[in-house]
Amino acid sequence: MNVDIKKSASHRRRTKIIATLGPGTDDPMVMERLIRAGVDVFRVNMSHGTESEHERRVELVKQAARKVRWQVALLVDLQGPKIRVEKFENGGVLLSSGDHFILDAEDPQTLGDRTRVGVSYASLPGDVNPGDILMLDDGLISMQVQSIEGGRVHCLVENGGTLKDRKGINLQGGGLSISGLAEHDLPHIKLAARVGADYVAVSFVSCADDLHRARALLREAGSEAALVAKIERMEAINNLEEICDATDAIMVARGDLGVEIGDEELPGLQKRIIRTAIKHNRIVATATQMMQSMVENPIPTRAEVLDVANAVLDGTDAVMLSAETAVGKHPVKVIESMNRICLGAERHFESEGDIRQLNVRFERIDQAIASAAMFMATKVTVKAIIALTESGSTAQWLSRVQSAVPIYAFSTNAASRRRMAMFRDVFPVKQDSASEDAEVVIAEALRTLLAHGAVAENDRIIVTMGDRMCKSGGTNTLRLIKLDNEGRANYGI
Ligand code: PGA
Ligand code: MN
Repeated sequence: MNVDIKKSASHRRRTKIIATLGPGTDDPMVMERLIRAGVDVFRVNMSHGTESEHERRVELVKQAARKVRWQVALLVDLQGPKIRVEKFENGGVLLSSGDHFILDAEDPQTLGDRTRVGVSYASLPGDVNPGDILMLDDGLISMQVQSIEGGRVHCLVENGGTLKDRKGINLQGGGLSISGLAEHDLPHIKLAARVGADYVAVSFVSCADDLHRARALLREAGSEAALVAKIERMEAINNLEEICDATDAIMVARGDLGVEIGDEELPGLQKRIIRTAIKHNRIVATATQMMQSMVENPIPTRAEVLDVANAVLDGTDAVMLSAETAVGKHPVKVIESMNRICLGAERHFESEGDIRQLNVRFERIDQAIASAAMFMATKVTVKAIIALTESGSTAQWLSRVQSAVPIYAFSTNAASRRRMAMFRDVFPVKQDSASEDAEVVIAEALRTLLAHGAVAENDRIIVTMGDRMCKSGGTNTLRLIKLDNEGRANYGI
């Protein structure tokens, strides 16, 4: 029996859920419940923890997924060139507004005190100017640059707070000239290859080149992972189109983005980034603080319910949890709540249908077939779309239209199926038959869907496929079939 389809038939959730691993998910029982509750993708956050912890957690995911027999994808999120303060003598200092404070790139290793702290990013003094605002610890603390003396940046604290070891620094308005990959990311790229990551997220991307470099390093390390470009700095907003072209997926990384560009810009930008990603045939995830209060509380706030729902209505493929699952007190409840909120929002989602594609000229055959399929799906009542798609690329095109019709993507390739776990509206299904005969494969797919109640007698179904079965990138055929009273395909009606 094909269990993946069982999952999709019972959940029927079109938006996908990404959950971050951490101490909160370390219990094998919890892990199993998380998968059953509906996690589609697990994220390894390379900003925290050791390599052996990460490998142990990935193993836990794989064991639980095997036991539950549901596929989940793995996303390794690289730390990137996040600029951080170094350590303090006592773990942190309380800064008050009006205090003078030095960010010291000349002497990064000497432990910090009330007057100064080290910063290991040597170019910081060259990247900032007097009057610039630096935001520390995701904007909790802000300071204005007064002067630059050698490698020391003298600041005046505007909003005070306790500044702790290793907290991040952002420049309001962007412009820190650091590139998209850092030295410490290199061993993490190897780890991603070793654990078989399906997606690798590149943090603080500024341009397409950052992604070309990341992809080259990944391939060199033997990984076929898809890339996720995290949009979290001003430069990435300015280069969004070229970044879309260079990546496989996009993440609206609202934590750092909000600090760099101002949180009041986030709602508008979230919508724009999602729209741009979809237009470029890219997958898009929305991240950070979606259910933040559930780190402590067993239920979300109304604002969080609205935030998750609005991301679904904006058209995001996936919604992401960070601390809520990694260190939260109620990891399973968070997934249950998110599942419920997504399902609720999806009931109110009004698809723009194929309007977006009216003026698009197609360059690829599978794109043209996918678009024709979705056009057909809006003109004829169909219950499901079956995509016989080895690589998943047709499913990706199909899902960009965001219709109300579920897409069952059959593939013999496990890596393709895991990758498709992040596509909205797509339910990846294991194709058992390796037959060259399309009729055999379609009959098998129909049997599977019938057995799980995804389709019924007399339903109309759209099928996309290629001339040759089990070959990547060959989709060139569109069929509209009707099941007869016995659930057999009837091509005549
Ligand atoms: P992070 O990325 O959690 O790795 O910082 C997401 C964000 O910045 O929102
Ligand atoms: Mn970030």
